[in-house]
Amino acid sequence: MKAFMDRDFLLSTETARHLYHDFAVPMPIIDFHCHLSPQEIFEDRQFENITQVWLGGDHYKWRLMRSAGVDEKYVTGDASDREKFQKWAETLGLAAGNPLYHWSHLELRNYFGYEGALNGDTAETVWQLCNKKLKTLSARQLIVNSKVKALCTTDDPADSLEWHKKIAEDKSFGVKVLPSYRPDKAMGIEKADYLDYLKRLGEIGSFVQLAEVLKARLAFFVENGCRVSDHGMESVPYAPAAAEQIEAIFQKRLAGELPTDREAKQFKTALLLELGREYHRLGVVMQLHFGVIRDNSHRVFRALGPDAGIDSIGDQPSIKDLAAFLGALDDTGELPKTILYSLNPNDNAALVTVMGAFQTGEAVGKVQHGSAWWFNDHKQGMLEQLTTLAADGYLAGFVGMLTDSRSFLSYARHEYFRRILCELLGSWVENGEYPNDDKALRTIVEGISVKNAETYFNL
Ligand SMILES: [Zn+2]
Repeated sequence: MKAFMDRDFLLSTETARHLYHDFAVPMPIIDFHCHLSPQEIFEDRQFENITQVWLGGDHYKWRLMRSAGVDEKYVTGDASDREKFQKWAETLGLAAGNPLYHWSHLELRNYFGYEGALNGDTAETVWQLCNKKLKTLSARQLIVNSKVKALCTTDDPADSLEWHKKIAEDKSFGVKVLPSYRPDKAMGIEKADYLDYLKRLGEIGSFVQLAEVLKARLAFFVENGCRVSDHGMESVPYAPAAAEQIEAIFQKRLAGELPTDREAKQFKTALLLELGREYHRLGVVMQLHFGVIRDNSHRVFRALGPDAGIDSIGDQPSIKDLAAFLGALDDTGELPKTILYSLNPNDNAALVTVMGAFQTGEAVGKVQHGSAWWFNDHKQGMLEQLTTLAADGYLAGFVGMLTDSRSFLSYARHEYFRRILCELLGSWVENGEYPNDDKALRTIVEGISVKNAETYFNL
């Protein structure tokens, strides 16, 4: 029997251990998509206790606790932080096979030096240990200790980027904290509060003006170090329409009338094409996140709002529209570097083949299949993403892992990913499917760990 999550966790062969310890471990981290607060980074936030760090905003943990039958009082309710931690420890202790089990224990090892297993019986010991340690740990220390070179937060086009500017001016902190441009609210023409949002962008009287303002905001983001944009959507829209038609849809919305589904799709297509061309012109990477159904429980949504652990994988047909959308940008040579993430793992092979149709000499892996996202962000999901990319695309050019997290402890996910990557590559070598070529293997491991991202995002 192997020891529980020891130094060689997930590394079953000699080659896998060599690749991981000698090539992957020394590599720093570029976290090109996360949801950390730049204000908390600038102010170097400290946390009073482990419940604040772990359960404060982590809807992955909330849904696991609910699945274990824990009352909402101990999840997001008014129970004390110690009581919530107890319920979390009891839940996690039996969550065999769930990625939270591994992530949480990697975090306990890496940041708190706890080598045991967290459960209801050990909760008090872990609570005391973590809280004592947290007195000497801050947001910036956690980032620096994790060897992060650069991270990209997720920001609205209307954001002043005040905190990013302050961080950039602070020479005592060497990590690049760059904004990412996420104009979901500007795309959301069907939303009830759309007109209120538009006011945040300024006086906007036409679609042409909206596109101009968004491009000006993008230029401002780029001046402040932005290298990547992000779009979250149920499915990628593609319904091209004439310019006059788009203007009419927008004018109707300005007058207070909601668009039909078809009109919303036409509007989104037009705006996404405008932005896609601008991303290409300015060298900004376009990320598309889709295949999601959000806020399934209206009851929980009414109480807690979005990001409350009530989303799911969707099965909206996306591939045909996605291919047509990329094709429209590619047609005029204006397809930017693009990363595709579908929450539906059934899309993996189709996505990688769509990507293959649009690759060019502009970049290694110009169109990328993003690392296993959200409900796929676990051992099985990562293996499926990596093997599909290898089989139908070019694994060596992969830009690799990101945390997509709101927590300063989540860098352990990069370690988890690198262990799985090295185990997979090692198994191919051990099985005679790929030569034991140290130089090539080093290039692949270092590339996927960090170097490919460094080149791809021009950091
Ligand atoms: Zn995200």
